[in-house]
Amino acid sequence: MQCPKCGTENAAGKIICRNCGARLRPGSAGTGPGGSGRSETDEELSQRLRYDLLRIVWVVAVVVLVGLGLGLLLK
Ligand SMILES: [Zn+2]
Repeated sequence: MQCPKCGTENAAGKIICRNCGARLRPGSAGTGPGGSGRSETDEELSQRLRYDLLRIVWVVAVVVLVGLGLGLLLK
């Protein structure tokens, strides 16, 4: 199966491209299991990923700030 994005030939049955990670079966979008009628678009997915990333960055920032604060207090 050829990747629609980069053209790399992937083994049959693969869901994502081994070269660029693009989804190889766009046809399955919209007909997810359960048939809820509405599946996540790529934009929504990346938006959610961005939100998760932001949350991780926040946690790391708070941990670093607390660590710095403790370091200054203990000096
Ligand atoms: Zn690809």
